[in-house]
This record gives sequence, structure tokens and C-alpha cells, in this order.
Amino acid sequence: LARTGEVDTPLSRALSMLIVPADAPGFRFERPISMLGRFLGQGELSFTDVKVPEYHLLGHAGAGIALMGKRLSIGRLLRSMNWIGLAERCLDLMGERVHSERGTASRLTDKQLVRQHFVEVYQAISGARALIRIAARGVDAGRPNDVDINVAKMAASRAVCKAADSAVQLYGAEGLSELMPIEGIFRIARTSRILDGADEALVSAVGRRLIDDYQQHGAYYFE
Ligand SMILES: Cc1cc2nc3c(=O)[nH]c(=O)nc-3n(C[C@H](O)[C@H](O)[C@H](O)COP(=O)(O)OP(=O)(O)OC[C@H]3O[C@@H](n4cnc5c(N)ncnc54)[C@H](O)[C@@H]3O)c2cc1C
Repeated sequence: LARTGEVDTPLSRALSMLIVPADAPGFRFERPISMLGRFLGQGELSFTDVKVPEYHLLGHAGAGIALMGKRLSIGRLLRSMNWIGLAERCLDLMGERVHSERGTASRLTDKQLVRQHFVEVYQAISGARALIRIAARGVDAGRPNDVDINVAKMAASRAVCKAADSAVQLYGAEGLSELMPIEGIFRIARTSRILDGADEALVSAVGRRLIDDYQQHGAYYFE
């Protein structure tokens, strides 16, 4: 994504998306960058006087932000589905733990605070699944709704964060160790609150849209 507009062009029309081949002169992959101790595919790239032919432009000049918005909408929804899958895996592992020999010996199923973890994770997953369905129906119908997509993304992110945290807690030290898949899920869960838009930025954008919607329609409508 590069600035192609003049300095005084509004940002929404100032950026363009360009395809840069990895062997283009001036392009360098400087170094991989790990996230919470693991390499998840991120890295530092540098572009020094890189030139590409005009046909490497995606869409038209100035459409960069609009194209990014389209990718982000569907990307947020697909990632949310993936996070819910990971949250469900954590809930399954929690069930496995409390019914294991170790869990039975500690009578984990009898502990109220352990039960609370199950309720909260189940509630978070169920709520996020419902919100994802609503957002996906809009996309299927060719009317993607940013409010629905962003609310679903935040719910899925919270669900996987809560599920990974509860699963670690029920497994104790083993949950933090490489012996269990939970530490990997925990790492992905933490990135979910930042990637594709930080929580705060989404809350701010959705909140403003909801307030504006009331002014426009005088009431809120749910399907
Ligand atoms: C694992 C991973 C993969 C990624 N993959 C991609 C990718 O494929 N493509 C891509 O383009 N980007 C990708 N990103 C980048 C990601 O989209 C950004 O990191 C994200 O949008 C947040 O932007 P930032 O990191 O610049 O944080 P900043 O915008 O600098 O925000 C930092 C913090 O400031 C606060 N903040 C920011 N905005 C507001 C606000 N409006 N209100 C209140 N507080 C606010 C929040 O606490 C926020 O966490 C990836 C990031 C990660 C971690």
C-alpha cells in the first residue's frame, strides 16, 4: 500500500495497492520478526526507490483504502470462524482435563470455580457463533454490514482469549507448557485483539456508527 495521491489528497483517496515482485530492485526482506516468541510469518520489509510497471496497480489509483476495507471485512469474518474453532478446541480440552485421572483425583467437576470457567467459555463461544452467523448472512446476501462483522470479530476474539485462558488455568503448569496445544492457541488468541484492527479502534468505529444510525433511523432494528 503506497501513497500515490498529492499531499493534500484525503487519505481515503491518497493510497493505492501495488504488486511488488520479491525480486524487484530496491525491495528487501530485512528480517523475520517473532510474535510472543514464535514466528507467525511477520517480518520487516524495505522498499528503496522500487519501481513497478503501471499494470501492477490493483484496482485503480487511489482505491487502496477501499480495497483494504473489502479485504478486511471478509478477512475479519474468516479469522473469527477460525478463532471460534480454537475456542471450541480449548473447551473440549477443559472437558478432557476435568474427566481425566488427574482431574478426577482432584474432584475438579465438583468445584464451583471450575464450573464457572465452563459456563463463561460456553457463553462466549455461543454468543460469538450467533454473531458470526448474522454477519455471514449479510455477506452471503451481498450486503456485508461492517457493524455486524466488527461486533462478531470482537466477540470471537474475546471468546478465544477467554477459552485459552480458562484452559491454561485448568491444566495448571502443563497448560503453559509445550506439552499441550493451549500455549499456541493462547499466543494466537492474544494477537486477535490487535490484528485486523485493535479492539479500541473497532469499538470506537462501531460506537460512532451506532450513534449515527439512531440519528438516521430513530430506532435500532434486529433481524
Ligand atoms: C499476527 C499479526 C498479523 C498481522 N497481519 C496483517 C496483515 O496480514 N495485513 C496487514 O495489513 N496488517 C497485519 N497486521 C497488522 C495489524 O492489522 C495492526 O497491527 C493493527 O491494525 C493495529 O495497528 P498497529 O499495530 O499500527 O497499532 P496502533 O494503531 O499503533 O495502535 C496501538 C494501540 O493504540 C491504541 N489505539 C489505536 N487506535 C485507537 C483508537 N481509535 N482508540 C483508542 N485506542 C486506540 C490501542 O490500544 C492499540 O492497540 C498484523 C498484526 C499481527 C499482530
